[in-house]
Amino acid sequence: MAAKILDGKALAARIRRELGEETARLRADGVQPGLAVVLVGEDPASHIYVRSKTAACVEVGIRTFDHRLPAATPEPELLALVASLNTNPDVDGILIQLPLPSGLDARRILFAVDPRKDVDGIHPENVGRLLMGEPRFVSCTPFGVMRLLEEAGASLAGADAVVVGRSNMVGKPMAALLVNADASVTICHSKTRDLAGNVRRADVVVAAVGRPEMIRGAWIKPGAVVIDVGINRVGEKKLLGDVEFSAAAERASAITPVPGGVGPMTIAMLLANTVSAAKVRRATSRL
Ligand code: NAP
Repeated sequence: MAAKILDGKALAARIRRELGEETARLRADGVQPGLAVVLVGEDPASHIYVRSKTAACVEVGIRTFDHRLPAATPEPELLALVASLNTNPDVDGILIQLPLPSGLDARRILFAVDPRKDVDGIHPENVGRLLMGEPRFVSCTPFGVMRLLEEAGASLAGADAVVVGRSNMVGKPMAALLVNADASVTICHSKTRDLAGNVRRADVVVAAVGRPEMIRGAWIKPGAVVIDVGINRVGEKKLLGDVEFSAAAERASAITPVPGGVGPMTIAMLLANTVSAAKVRRATSRL
């Protein structure tokens, strides 16, 4: 079987086009969506991510508020910035780019963000709402995976889904979204005894581990839908996912490539969350 390749790049471009139309409508009503991006320190990968996110915002008509701070920024100063963004009426969403430099308590800073502006979906209030099946903002990567699964026409109700990885940003919210979509979900992690056996049973596999090609193609159940969240830099230029792509594509019904699968969707969903927040602002300003 040759799998359908789930083109996240094309889907993300379509979502950005639709969001561009939405922001035009919002502007006509006097609301321009705004995203504050807070980048602390000099981590080169973070600078690249922030550049891509800012460019995507500009493309769809989201105004950005850039805050670049030195690595030595004292925590109270960063907390004061977050407090001012929380009350700034032009800011609909706040993104604190991770990782934060050591010496800053990421938990304290992320929890200080107003949950109504937490477009990254990582504030405990938003995580709790997701678990209760009443999501507001959902962590962007798993949210993007759900759009890809929808695009693949994957039937999730009653399906056996395996999520490999249990991080707060990816694995756990992914599992919650799949449960909310009526899948039976198994979460695997580094202590799981029989990873291969779990993957072999899965109708849907989401790999979010960070180990190149750890999920072997031979483990994939024929006809399964495979989503590869992993981004692993191998050597100078090569990027590999967490799934052994070519062997898995022989067995899967649909699979995401790396790059060009989940990655572009993550940014698209950040934009979508920001536009949703701006729509709430428009609705409340009309009250
Ligand atoms: P993370 O916080 O490092 O979590 C990795 C998870 O993998 C952990 O739960 C860990 O288990 C599990 N794991 C490690 N070794 C394992 C093994 N041998 N067998 C089974 N599970 C194992 O990583 P993350 O932030 O979730 O990211 C995962 C991957 O996705 C990375 O490659 C990252 O770059 C990529 N990513 C991509 C995007 C995107 O937009 N495409 C966004 C975010 C992340 P324990 O909990 O037991 O340690």
